[in-house]
Amino acid sequence: MEISQHWRLRKERYSMVGSVCPACGHKSFPPREVCPQCNSEVKIVETQAETKIQVKVAA
Ligand SMILES: [Zn+2]
Repeated sequence: MEISQHWRLRKERYSMVGSVCPACGHKSFPPREVCPQCNSEVKIVETQAETKIQVKVAA
């Protein structure tokens, strides 16, 4: 339990992780366990924002 929680925090900190509701398509950031709109179980996704940030910093 402790390890997986630490993992989640690390992921949120070093990459953009959010959640997408498969039922209504609502996106949450930071990720939630359930959709705030329809209370369905959401799916955790990594966005591509990390790449954009890296490009911005490099330029
Ligand atoms: Zn939803």
